[in-house]
Amino acid sequence: MRTLKHFMALALALAMALPIGAKPKIRIIATGGTIAGVSVTSASTAYTAGQVGIQTLLDAVPQILNLADVDGEQLVNIGSQDMNDEVWIKLAKRINEILNDEGYDGVVVTHGTDTMEETAYFLNLTVKSEKPVILAGSMRPSNAISADGPANLYNAVAAASSPACRGMGVLCCMNNQLLDAKTVIKTHTIDCDTFEGGPSGIIGYIYNGEAHMLQTPNNKHTVNSVFDVSKISRLPKVGIVYGYANASPIPMQALVAAGFDGIVLAGVGDGNFYKDVFDVAVKAQESGVQIVRSSRCPTGPTCLNSEVEDSKYHFVASLDLNPQKARILLMLALTKTHDWQEIQQLFKEY
Ligand code: ASP
Repeated sequence: MRTLKHFMALALALAMALPIGAKPKIRIIATGGTIAGVSVTSASTAYTAGQVGIQTLLDAVPQILNLADVDGEQLVNIGSQDMNDEVWIKLAKRINEILNDEGYDGVVVTHGTDTMEETAYFLNLTVKSEKPVILAGSMRPSNAISADGPANLYNAVAAASSPACRGMGVLCCMNNQLLDAKTVIKTHTIDCDTFEGGPSGIIGYIYNGEAHMLQTPNNKHTVNSVFDVSKISRLPKVGIVYGYANASPIPMQALVAAGFDGIVLAGVGDGNFYKDVFDVAVKAQESGVQIVRSSRCPTGPTCLNSEVEDSKYHFVASLDLNPQKARILLMLALTKTHDWQEIQQLFKEY
């Protein structure tokens, strides 16, 4: 069985191999971020994200032309703190066109690091291709001493060109590492070594312009995802409420009053509510606003029916998803169903 599997994988790799001497065709979609940022002086920490265009980024790394035939387009030029649903939908649709209709072998998205994990997870659920889609950014602006953007971009193009990254879902490429969209988290506000892969660690790494994979994601993504944004121009409204001691119920009440379709709790511990917030959540769920419990803890699952009786209240437990990724899955889930049990099943699968 193992030999047959290996033979089939080899046959597939050979069938997909490019003609000898042909370089993979990679499209870079630039969206801004610190990788396109400019600081006041090269030694300054004061800078503005999303300042330089795609051509400047490419000009800084001429070596990528040894790896692939690369060209680029500018989708937006923003700090990723300003990323929004509209850009996500546009980006997913554009990537699907590039990979399925325009003959490219892979896509690199340059992106700010603040919300990179959210964009990666959104694309992981909405891109319809097995070809590599790699997000890259930087922690230092383009004109800083030891800017990390050029190396990250070079590594991202290497990953996007590599058959090893096919079928892995959307990946982030930062600091020589490859991280998978579901588990990747930004852990440090300013260090270059800020991204981590959660308890399961990194999914691979880049060395000398080559991708080396260490594991495969075990959740559904890309071609196996049921989510389809091809005919969608807006997403359901889902907000996040933060948990803390003596928490005010006002933020959750405000989201309900504003007509949000769903609310994710960034709860304490295993997704617990402060009692006043719990009462609002029960009423919200009864009135048709889907509540998902997640946790403000950086690691560990939010367990179903553990300290909170989810089945009694029809709450959904986010399981391995942090609040910001639970928000994305809930938005997409609400495009399909409003049944809490079906939504819980989607949280188990994705
Ligand atoms: N605020 C920036 C952004 O996310 C930070 C960065 O890119 O590192 O666009």
